[in-house]
Amino acid sequence: MNYNVDEKGYYGDFGGAFIPEMLYPNVAELREKYLKISSEPDFKKEFDNLLKVYVGRPTPLYFAKRLSKRYNTKIYLKREDLCHTGAHKVNNTIGQILLAKRLGKNRVIAETGAGQHGVATATVCALMGIECIVYMGELDIKRQAPNVARMKMLGAEVRSAKSGSKTLKDATNEAIRDWINNPVDTHYIIGSVVGPHPYPDMVARFQSVISEETKWQLKEQEGREYPDHIIACVGGGSNAAGLYFHYLNDERVNIISVEAAGKGIHSGKSAATSALGKEGIIHGSKTLLMQSHDGQITEPYSISAGLDYPGIGPMHAHLYRSKRAEFISIPDQEAMGWGLTLSQMEGIIPAIETAHAFAVLDVRKFSPEEVIVFNCSGRGDKDLDTYIDYFKL
Ligand SMILES: *Cc1c(COP(=O)(O)O)cnc(C)c1O
Repeated sequence: MNYNVDEKGYYGDFGGAFIPEMLYPNVAELREKYLKISSEPDFKKEFDNLLKVYVGRPTPLYFAKRLSKRYNTKIYLKREDLCHTGAHKVNNTIGQILLAKRLGKNRVIAETGAGQHGVATATVCALMGIECIVYMGELDIKRQAPNVARMKMLGAEVRSAKSGSKTLKDATNEAIRDWINNPVDTHYIIGSVVGPHPYPDMVARFQSVISEETKWQLKEQEGREYPDHIIACVGGGSNAAGLYFHYLNDERVNIISVEAAGKGIHSGKSAATSALGKEGIIHGSKTLLMQSHDGQITEPYSISAGLDYPGIGPMHAHLYRSKRAEFISIPDQEAMGWGLTLSQMEGIIPAIETAHAFAVLDVRKFSPEEVIVFNCSGRGDKDLDTYIDYFKL
């Protein structure tokens, strides 16, 4: 079994590029050039250097002593929360902005829901002096005011999507329309391992620095490159793909993916895509997504904005169907509890997305000699208002 993308852009039954004909040239250009450009020595040098001096990599692989003691196993945290801008997303936007430059693009567009990807995109556009337009649903603009302010401060233009439910899917439609109208000078930066091929593979490769570092860091600390379990939360699946990438075909490593159960898997208010999803097409790729009987996409719900997505990337759909990965879904309440637990046991305030992953420790047994690596995908600063309301702090 192979868990990487194949030559046609598929992970098993999932993936591909289901796009309007008008978008063919844009996607074809990327597909033909992304591997060649990103493997050029000059590209790698610039990418590695920016990850080092701008993002702050390598991020530490931290042995969580108190947590390990309480759960009687060996727990490591890969500290993506220490990346510049507060999460893993910037690894990908750095890669894509370098690619955009080499494709001769002088304008970047992106879509954003909670605003995290918009901020990571606006950041790298400022870094490179490239024009940046971020599409965002009108409703999300109201709900995510601090991130809108950040993007504006970084020099991006935030354009409001006023159609449909005025959220992420509508912003995506607007971004695609923009790209169709500006095929020559514009690059579209997608923020997770979703979208038409080659996006899922391209984003996974840029994020794969996470497992690349984990291998040598674990070797230093444990004497072996591979852990027994790797655990990450999955919204679209980019932080997970980054942690899994170099371990995908190493069957000694068990993979655990954590989704948001919201108010309960069967409550009608969740984002547990693998448990509830069926095959369908979303954002240009065939994958598992939450939909009604007649194929309408179901509105997802999670207390964490980053997991509030009705699909998962095609790599993760394949990991689910092939049973390479275990999928566990965690309700809001347990995730919020872990926001406090990690803060008070390790002095690390996690993003609410990240907190979902740790809740696995309460539902799954591990033995004392096992080594577990959690992807600590982001920090909780952005979620402070939610924590304040929830815990009456
Ligand atoms: C955006 C985000 C996620 C979810 O996105 P993935 O593509 O699934 O990684 C998870 N954690 C944090 C901190 C995020 O900002």
